Amino acid sequence: MSTFQELGLNDDLLHAITDLGFEKPSEVQEKAIPILLNSETDLVALAQTGTGKTAAFGFPMLAKIDVNSRTTQGLILSPTRELCLQITNEMKQYGKYCKGLNVVAIYGGSSITDQAREVKRGAQIIVATPGRMKDMISRRLVDISKIQYSVLDEADEMLNMGFKEDITDILSHTPEDKNTWLFSATMPREVARIAKKFMDNPQEITVGNKNESTSNVTHEYYLVNSRDRYQALKRLADANPDIFSVVFCRTKRDTQKVAENLIEDGYSAGALHGDLSQNQRDLVMQSFRKNQIQMLVATDVAARGIDVDDITHVINYQLPDEIETYTHRSGRTGRAGKNGISMVIVSKSEVRKIKSIERIIKREFEKKEVPDGMEICEVQLMSLANKIHNTEVNHEIDKYLTSINEMFEETSKEELIKKFFSVEFTRFYNYYQKSKNLNVAEGSRDREGGREGGRDFGGNSNSTRYFINVGEKDGFDWMKLKDFLKDQLQLGRDDVFKVEVKESFSFFNTENETKDKVLAFFTDFKHEGRFVNVEVSENRGGGRRNDRRGGGGRRDDKRGGGRRSDDRKGGSGSRSDRRRSNEGGGSSRRSDSDSGGGKFAGARRSRR
Ligand code: AMP
Repeated sequence: MSTFQELGLNDDLLHAITDLGFEKPSEVQEKAIPILLNSETDLVALAQTGTGKTAAFGFPMLAKIDVNSRTTQGLILSPTRELCLQITNEMKQYGKYCKGLNVVAIYGGSSITDQAREVKRGAQIIVATPGRMKDMISRRLVDISKIQYSVLDEADEMLNMGFKEDITDILSHTPEDKNTWLFSATMPREVARIAKKFMDNPQEITVGNKNESTSNVTHEYYLVNSRDRYQALKRLADANPDIFSVVFCRTKRDTQKVAENLIEDGYSAGALHGDLSQNQRDLVMQSFRKNQIQMLVATDVAARGIDVDDITHVINYQLPDEIETYTHRSGRTGRAGKNGISMVIVSKSEVRKIKSIERIIKREFEKKEVPDGMEICEVQLMSLANKIHNTEVNHEIDKYLTSINEMFEETSKEELIKKFFSVEFTRFYNYYQKSKNLNVAEGSRDREGGREGGRDFGGNSNSTRYFINVGEKDGFDWMKLKDFLKDQLQLGRDDVFKVEVKESFSFFNTENETKDKVLAFFTDFKHEGRFVNVEVSENRGGGRRNDRRGGGGRRDDKRGGGRRSDDRKGGSGSRSDRRRSNEGGGSSRRSDSDSGGGKFAGARRSRR
């Protein structure tokens, strides 16, 4: 293991590193810094967030730019405003002894005039989100025609978020001979394509394996009935009294509901999703950063760029539609050398996805049991005992002690301890004493259609599943189809989900509210000269659906062919697999309004 000095960094940077308390380079820094310092090269680096990648490109960029010039020499593109601000902040810290350095952040939702003024002062390095950057270029508020170094940070996320065209446009305003450094946690085809298109013989480094999760994160899954999902979430939180977590839901609506219910049930929780204003999101993030919120319930898109180092748990309340996204989720914990746990709450119909994720992250999941009520009571009791043991006495209470002592004059120490702890313990005990076992045995039958009063905010009843007669043959993969639908229907990224592309047809879901809009839009719609039909999928994966909307011959033909051959070819398993996935659409009659957690409120609120 080398030191930062051995990597060849200059004194100004080493001085800042000492101030920051970084003792030794992380793996990505050790690999990237010497390459970037010593050669003028393009680079593709596969590294998760939290591995120290900002410094891996930041130090070399700072070492190479000329701070005496006011020309913009380095451009860092990042997917979100949050991340953009974090990178800017880190760069300023790394470069605090580089006299004359001006690093400017450019991002949407904030005054463009102020940002332009900052740039005009002479920004050697610009850190930007693609949308705002493109806007500023077109208004001639920035000049990136002389940059020497460009960084595409979290390239997979940027492409995921639909920034491909913006990036292409931005890079077309930069010189041919600049160096491009691409950092990505995963390497889907799209990223490889970008690397090929914009880079010249890039050197490659990988930290861990491609798409692999960081080694200090353990992965666990909990198999429950869908209707018990919310109860399971609460138990996982209760069994970890010091939890500081991000809880991932699939849609904005589920995110909001889960957060609201957690709050109602006495947990310190907050929601983070795209329907909130920027100001609301900032406030939630601020509270989370200050540890005032223990459970941040978030959508994948909104959680991008969350860069909080001490997250103890990531909880996948629902698995993401695209399993690659799991890598990003789990990468929110186990950062900066700390250990983390990524938990997945799964129902029987989703459990097969665990195996696929294992293949992607090259790590095994441990199947764990949702703790029973008495285990939780014990954990809570011992946690309280521990806290009391470690609490420093506040002498402000001395003045009240005389009357308290008088009150307990006759009580023995043993009795006093029992009484004291019973105050807390009884709340949990009363709530949990009759609690049921939430675990489902792997081989048992799925009872997801039940109506026992649990709440599954990720349930299927709020969404509609559609059949669409385009597929791989038409050049779509899930990402392209998702983007296509989102763009055509003018929906947000979170609003189109469970996209599943077969050879000649596909499936996708939207919230029920959007159903009329979706169906109306596709009544007379042509794509590349061909009619595109969308219908509600009838939850019968076998394809015995009657075609009700004419023109069905073509569709039926293709679907018939797809059913027999596509499934096998696509590797998506048996016909019954497909039936299950089609059933994602909305047959459930579960009620979202059942209240499952009210009783617990008293118990939980006592926790601080
Ligand atoms: P990043 O992957 O750039 O988001 O970095 C994650 C966190 O690790 C940030 O808070 C950095 O300040 C911190 N960090 C980066 N490099 C090191 C290092 N060599 N030693 C300790 N912490 C680091």
